[in-house]
Amino acid sequence: MLYQRSSQLFVEANEVIPGGVNSPVRAFKGVGGFPIFIKEAKGAYLFDEDGNRYIDYINSWGPMILGHAHEPVVNAIVEKAKKGTSFGTPTELETKIAALAISMVPNIDKIRFVNSGTEACMSAIRLARGYTKRDKIIKFSGCYHGHSDSFLIAAGSGLSTFGVPNSPGVTVGTAKDTLLAKYNDLENVKGLFEANKNEIAAIIVEPVAGNMGCIPPKEGFLAGLKQLCEENGAVLVFDEVMTGFRLAKGGVQELYNVNADIVCFGKVIGGGLPVGAFAARNEIMNMLSPLGPVYQAGTLSGNPLAMAAGYQMLLELNASSEIFTRLDEKTAYLEKGIHEVLSKNNIEFTINRVGSMISVHFDKNEVYDFETAKNGDNETFKKFFHELLKRGIYIAPSAYETWFITDALTYEDLDYTIKCIDEVAKVL
Ligand code: PLP
Repeated sequence: MLYQRSSQLFVEANEVIPGGVNSPVRAFKGVGGFPIFIKEAKGAYLFDEDGNRYIDYINSWGPMILGHAHEPVVNAIVEKAKKGTSFGTPTELETKIAALAISMVPNIDKIRFVNSGTEACMSAIRLARGYTKRDKIIKFSGCYHGHSDSFLIAAGSGLSTFGVPNSPGVTVGTAKDTLLAKYNDLENVKGLFEANKNEIAAIIVEPVAGNMGCIPPKEGFLAGLKQLCEENGAVLVFDEVMTGFRLAKGGVQELYNVNADIVCFGKVIGGGLPVGAFAARNEIMNMLSPLGPVYQAGTLSGNPLAMAAGYQMLLELNASSEIFTRLDEKTAYLEKGIHEVLSKNNIEFTINRVGSMISVHFDKNEVYDFETAKNGDNETFKKFFHELLKRGIYIAPSAYETWFITDALTYEDLDYTIKCIDEVAKVL
């Protein structure tokens, strides 16, 4: 494949945008080389500026469940745009999408729309703090909740480690209120509650983790978190920015039958436009401004175009459960195929999958938290990534990202992918 135009565009972008990208993972730093500039996309495919076609396993990091440029979503955006793109007033569509989302997701009475997953998680934590009148939160190493200060905290060790900032600009004062725990380790979380009695406002967790590869919660982990929160007067926040409306209509709460107190959404809920949302029961949501004292706002929140795209997307996802079954079947087929060809070629690997989220770790041992995720062989991953890219298969340019499957993928696409992985395995 030729990447002449992409490489030139990257040079030009670097002149005017830090690192040439508007979000760091796009820069290919984890895998080397330069990023591919995408010109357009349709269904399961991306087309780059040099005219190359790729089967897309990133899908805008999750939202394109129905495929790129899905016609009903595009039409909804176009029709809305003709009537004005932002008013800064309430619109009927906001109520419609809110009511629809509430009907799909368990245990929520009200929802507020924001502009990104970061905003959703940041606001959820403020709300949890306002509700409990406490300051500290627990987050898990390897879970990502956006780039708000409280979440950019490095992993520490030991039972009651205080967080330390891992980005300049995050103050020590902010970091000290974020306690780090190990994913899938309830004893660790219990220890943090014991060491910080009546101080912890919330646990925030990716209930199926997707930012250290895909890592499923171990049996009893989510229910255990819920119980610990109840026993200690803290709020359980599920960050369903990746999993919401993807793993089931009602997200992880429905799939694992555990209710959170606050749920955060992003990605899917905007049908590919910049949207996030957070939701909870009335008791918590009524604390929010203008009803209550916890302030939260946004000039473009509930933007008509984003609401139109999101509403159309949710309508289709709500129409039947078949789409979730299809996504699961397609991803299971891919998992089985990858398993067969990597085994046949004597590659050491582990595949983790929940529904349409899947990741391949180049390590033969179980991957269940950030430490075990880091054991993967990154050099092998880099080669794997570039060899697949050459063959027109676009997976996330990082060993710590999940692949997201779209319903637009055909079994021919999946067979081609498996065939390519078989070829690539021979040169790893
Ligand atoms: N939460 C999770 C689980 C995410 O994966 C992400 C982004 O990838 C975010 C929050 C932040 O969302 P955004 O990038 O829309 O701010």
